[in-house]
Amino acid sequence: MIKVAINGYGTIGKRVADAVRAQPDMEVLGVAKTRPNFEAETAIDKGFPLYAAIEEREDQFAAAGLDIAGPVAELVDAADIVVDATPSGIGAENKSLYEEYDTPALYQGGEDAALVDTSFNARSNFEDAVDADHVRVVSCNTTGLSRAIAPLREAFGVEKVRATLVRRGGDPGQTSRGPINDILPDPVTIPSHHGPDVETIFDDLDIDTLGMKVPATLMHMHSLNVTLEEAVDAAEVRDLFGDESRLFLIPKHMSIDGSGKLKEYALDAGRPRGDIWENAVWEESISTVGRDLYLFQGIHQESDVVPENVDAIRAVTGSADAEESIRTTNEALGIGL
Ligand code: NAD
Repeated sequence: MIKVAINGYGTIGKRVADAVRAQPDMEVLGVAKTRPNFEAETAIDKGFPLYAAIEEREDQFAAAGLDIAGPVAELVDAADIVVDATPSGIGAENKSLYEEYDTPALYQGGEDAALVDTSFNARSNFEDAVDADHVRVVSCNTTGLSRAIAPLREAFGVEKVRATLVRRGGDPGQTSRGPINDILPDPVTIPSHHGPDVETIFDDLDIDTLGMKVPATLMHMHSLNVTLEEAVDAAEVRDLFGDESRLFLIPKHMSIDGSGKLKEYALDAGRPRGDIWENAVWEESISTVGRDLYLFQGIHQESDVVPENVDAIRAVTGSADAEESIRTTNEALGIGL
């Protein structure tokens, strides 16, 4: 069993912990938190040993009646790998801790690409992370774009990608985020930083992205235009995407008209926390005009990177190849709506 430590038990960390626990070949050694909030309570209820991410705050946990298993350094020392799911920029501060104990680490998309040996998306560049020590699982948006671009590159060749990312203002629990009643070009400069982030996965890709922020919390929405190297029928793209385990094609008959019904469907289907680990591509939107492909896809920002973290654990520990890892992760989580 691969012993996994999770440092940072928030939106991403708690989901990765559950996903790791569901795998046949890995276990959660413990999770580290800074504060005794509701997530600390549920970590204990679920039986995850809870470590103090900041030693001086251990007494806060004691005051809240929560048992601490030890300081985070002990957890890092005992683990085969750490998944750092702390807020943007904190992962970089934690890197020296992981180096001190010679424990390989995964970081999340909020960290700089320069921090790590390689950025990671399971479908696109699994092999780059094999035996690496520091790996960044790219952001929710970059994960969503990479999953769609990888099969298109292989099947038809991609000349140019143009994507407009309509991004949720904050996650449902992020009460301090916005906008509440506005539509923001964000960033206002064009192209946005998202394109270069996708180029950390495909270094020879020509991609321009534009970003916006809207008063929504459920999901991001991508409007994608890909100029392929050959003229392709929309049906061929639908068939290609239909074979991709982490692309869910929303059929017309489901009458899913947006993120709200998508999330409702995920909840009805019994998905934990209503998570949608796959890109949700509106099948009807897949259209071609000559070599230009167009589509809309919904990206569940809180969960699409979760299976990618699980696969990155196997890549870094050298315990499976891409195909085997993706299959195992998918089966354990029930991916494939
Ligand atoms: P979050 O704020 O929900 O969770 C972070 C957790 O880390 C919190 O529990 C916080 O208390 C804890 N923490 C803070 N400082 C810490 C420290 N020094 N040591 C240990 N724990 C600490 O954040 P999140 O949304 O889960 O984001 C984590 C990372 O994942 C970021 O890099 C983010 O960019 C990336 N990411 C977030 C999303 C998303 O939509 N939420 C999607 C993809 C990637």
